Amino acid sequence: MEIQLTGKRVLVTGSSSGIGAAIAEHMGAAGARVAVNYRSSEEGAEDTVKKIVDAGGEAFKVQADISDATAVEKMFAEIDHRWGGIDVLINNAGIDGERLKSWEIEARDWKNVIDINLVGTFYCSQQALKRMVPAESGVILNISSVHEEIAWSGHSAYTASKAGISMMMKTMAQEASPHGVRVLAVAPGAIRTPINKDVWSDPERLKDLKSKIPMNRIGETDEVARLVVVLVSEVGSYVTGETIFIDGGMTDYPGFAHGG
Ligand code: NAD
Repeated sequence: MEIQLTGKRVLVTGSSSGIGAAIAEHMGAAGARVAVNYRSSEEGAEDTVKKIVDAGGEAFKVQADISDATAVEKMFAEIDHRWGGIDVLINNAGIDGERLKSWEIEARDWKNVIDINLVGTFYCSQQALKRMVPAESGVILNISSVHEEIAWSGHSAYTASKAGISMMMKTMAQEASPHGVRVLAVAPGAIRTPINKDVWSDPERLKDLKSKIPMNRIGETDEVARLVVVLVSEVGSYVTGETIFIDGGMTDYPGFAHGG
């Protein structure tokens, strides 16, 4: 079975690094045209674009802070101008915020995580749906997290944002599926990226993390990107309103492996 996204117009938010960069590259390799969104790392976005173009694909960089509704509107207008619409939106951009208990964190810092992860995902999804629903075609895939399900001390805003993405995704899928638009999510476990470098570069913290993963290793960005390409392609044509976990078994409660 060959997976082809030939000519598909794809926007990947936060694709100047990590999982987003890998998704953008795999989209390009599958034949899609890719808009590489970034907030501040223009260099990172240029690097992603270069990798896609060097491999024979088509890509351009587009700056926007996704938590700014006006900036998001402008980004979609730029995509309209270049391509006349959009076929696939990957809501990947996100932050986990400073690790502080709920009674320690400043309210404005808590809200900032929600503004980027949840509200920013809404802004981008809304712009995409405004185009996809009338076109009777399209896919929106959100990068959620195992923390839409697993509580995570010190990160109440992050867990709330990802749990919020889950129900927003299901509701949007209910709304848009009759119009030929799929909306779904992929929830990674621990994936080696800049967001968690402090953990995987520290042997003690890595050991502790691995003990939470039945497969006993952290995942790589390519593993997530490959799944995303499959799900947005025709191979995933009947998948909507669902979160697919890619976590080496982390949500399988490994603490119970030895009784309990
Ligand atoms: P990353 O830090 O490399 O990527 C996050 C990207 O989002 C960066 O490019 C950043 O610049 C961008 N971004 C942040 N705020 C933005 C904004 N306001 N506007 C536009 N772009 C913005 O880390 P990553 O691990 O690749 O994270 C990508 C996604 O995967 C995030 O949503 C994260 O929550 C999710 N995730 C990551 C892991 C993991 O273990 N790495 C696990 C589960 C979920």
